[in-house]
Amino acid sequence: MQEIKIYKTDAPKAKPTGALGFGKIFTDHMFIMEYTAGQGWHDPRIVPYAPIELDPSAMVFHYAQEIFEGLKAYRTKDGSIQLFRPYENANRMNRSADRLCIPEIDPDFWVKAVSTLVEVDKDWVPYEEGTSLYIRPFVIATDPMLGVHPSKTYKFIIILSPVGSYYAGGLSPVRIYIETKFVRAVRGGTGEAKAGGNYAASIKSQEVSESLGFSQVLWLDGVEQKYIEEVGAMNVFFKIDGKVVTPALVGSILPGITRKSTIELLKDWGYEVEERRLSAAEVEEAAKAGKLEEMFGTGTAAVISPVGLLRIGDVDITINNGEIGPLSQKLYDTLTGIQWGRVEDTKNWVYKI
Ligand SMILES: *Cc1c(COP(=O)(O)O)cnc(C)c1O
Repeated sequence: MQEIKIYKTDAPKAKPTGALGFGKIFTDHMFIMEYTAGQGWHDPRIVPYAPIELDPSAMVFHYAQEIFEGLKAYRTKDGSIQLFRPYENANRMNRSADRLCIPEIDPDFWVKAVSTLVEVDKDWVPYEEGTSLYIRPFVIATDPMLGVHPSKTYKFIIILSPVGSYYAGGLSPVRIYIETKFVRAVRGGTGEAKAGGNYAASIKSQEVSESLGFSQVLWLDGVEQKYIEEVGAMNVFFKIDGKVVTPALVGSILPGITRKSTIELLKDWGYEVEERRLSAAEVEEAAKAGKLEEMFGTGTAAVISPVGLLRIGDVDITINNGEIGPLSQKLYDTLTGIQWGRVEDTKNWVYKI
């Protein structure tokens, strides 16, 4: 495996005091390496965090050939630092890479790059309850060229951001509505790749939802606009009449690692979990029949995000009296317990730095 050169800053920044928020503060260092066709990935190094210089014609600016990942480093009670299922992120990034014609990165090297950078900036992993160090690996196409074709050069960069607790005031249910005008992704498109372009297409809906007092939108399938897909940066689950239902990964849905972990836990606990097509009409009917017991989103940022109110058309459905359901709470406690080292990791999900 290639050696990662480390060039430490001689001007470390002051650590933040007060609320961290999300993704606004960056640490002292970043990881960077380049790809050149014929040579492969080369020159891996950790350098002081700083702006990068790119040619204005760099392909990423014009055709959005870009992929990213998101994971966290957690501070445990004894002061040690750990990651949650980082190989899942490494492998997913390679699947995204394949979809966008970006060269793959050896998963072992990927995890080594992440853990070496976290080790260098370990003092930036916050200690307060619910806080963590968000890790953002990404690859950009850098060929200075306006022709539409895969770039021959790339940069793989990892940056780190200490982030606050998603639920500063405790786990609280969100309000979402079903988006009926715009769609996020279509089958055969890039919806199952973690690509920045997917987000560019979603910002308009996000803006409208916030202006209406909702936190996010729930996307429907791009073909019939009937079937539920996912929410913003979260996969979505419904507890209907004792069973748990989540949309099947049909190609336009991002395969979340929190989603996968949630399904594994639910099955361990004896729940019947159905991964299948689920229409908005079915959810509405279940709610009317009093069978929609819980609804929640899953994702690295919030882990489990209970939904207290779902708007379908002009019908507002209140779920579990707008309160956190017992299953959502149990999943949240278990997943965050494993991530912060408070609950025994019987599934080998934790990766120690
Ligand atoms: C990253 C992401 C998710 C959640 O994935 P996790 O691995 O659980 O964090 C869900 N949907 C979209 C669109 C995403 O980009």
